[in-house]
Amino acid sequence: MVRINDNYLRLPESYLFSEVARRVAEFQKAHPGKEIIRMGIGDVTRPLCKAAIDAMHSAVDDEASASAFHGYGPEQGYAFLREKIALHDYSGRGIDIDADEIFIGDGAKSDLGNFTDILATDMTVAVTDPVYPVYVDTNVMAGRGGERIGEHHEGIIYLPVNKQNGYVPPLPDRRPDVIYLCSPNNPTGTALTRQQLKEWVDYARREGCLILFDSAYEAYIHTADVPHSIYEIEGAKEVAVEFRSFSKTAGFTGVRCGYTVVPRCLKGRAADGEEVSLNRLWNRRQSTKFNGASYISQRGAEAIYTEEGQRQTKETVEYYMENARIMREALSAAGYETAGGVDSPYIWLKTPGRMSSWDFFDFLLSTHGIVGTPGSGFGAEGEGYLRLTAFNTREATLKAMSLLLP
Ligand SMILES: *Cc1c(COP(=O)(O)O)cnc(C)c1O
Repeated sequence: MVRINDNYLRLPESYLFSEVARRVAEFQKAHPGKEIIRMGIGDVTRPLCKAAIDAMHSAVDDEASASAFHGYGPEQGYAFLREKIALHDYSGRGIDIDADEIFIGDGAKSDLGNFTDILATDMTVAVTDPVYPVYVDTNVMAGRGGERIGEHHEGIIYLPVNKQNGYVPPLPDRRPDVIYLCSPNNPTGTALTRQQLKEWVDYARREGCLILFDSAYEAYIHTADVPHSIYEIEGAKEVAVEFRSFSKTAGFTGVRCGYTVVPRCLKGRAADGEEVSLNRLWNRRQSTKFNGASYISQRGAEAIYTEEGQRQTKETVEYYMENARIMREALSAAGYETAGGVDSPYIWLKTPGRMSSWDFFDFLLSTHGIVGTPGSGFGAEGEGYLRLTAFNTREATLKAMSLLLP
């Protein structure tokens, strides 16, 4: 028989969402008429904007004509999209990033998971706790997890983020090679300010670490002091890769398109001490293992950068953020403690008293028919929290909040 990658056996069973679904189904069966309000949704729900839809329709027509047909595209993505991104998301914000430092992909999750292909197998990574599970699981698959002790892998450095530290990951007490930062954060909904992010960039420069910066929720930022890109911080280009996605920005979760920025000045060290460009290695990796995001998705993404596309996507983001505002205000009026919901569509709700995440989940479900996501599912430090999202309709959001008010 074929030998398997044993590292996969070290992965914890990912039972969070299936357990949520199981408990909801059980409740529904016991209370057939009862309305269920899903506030655990981790996906956008509004349709794509017209500008993107029109552009994709027209791209489909291109594929139907011999003269406009597009087959394999550049593995790095089409210049028409890379140039729009460079102009709009970077130089327009005073950041100097060239189109050839931008790699278009089929979403941020794959790039986040694949990026460590070009890094040493025996390096150490640091993540926050709670965390977006992709960072941990992909490193465990690559053999960087070590033994699993309780909820942690001994090979991974966990940085607790909680109310006490204001959800700002503390600098580690031993040096990691790679640090994953997600701001605005999933699941806590909080975001790092310029000064807080600068401390991490300075640390990475001092210690020679690489930061993998996930800014999938960049479009939700409303606070002036929260950077949209890590490259707004001086010196970040030498230490950081940035992952962005059209999924939450423009509803592309089903269409699939995102991009990764690997600055040319970013270097890694080979075993013999030679300095090697990470842009060159990632380019090599992508041209070998990836054949480019679809032409149709890239035309759709390009349309987001038009004036109408900008206006329409902003409208949708504002719709979700109005839900978030309604939730924050109602929850605090009902006496709950919350974080997030200002620069992200996620609200991190403290369970009352010393209730566990799952007990509070059961309480909200059985009392009000409201479904959240237990914080403990995102890491040990998430125990005692529940994640609510602003991705439901206005009507359902208002209904859920009215149920919670005394
Ligand atoms: C949704 C999300 C992404 C984006 O994933 P895609 O693969 O681009 O759809 C990346 N990071 C986090 C933390 C997310 O929640």
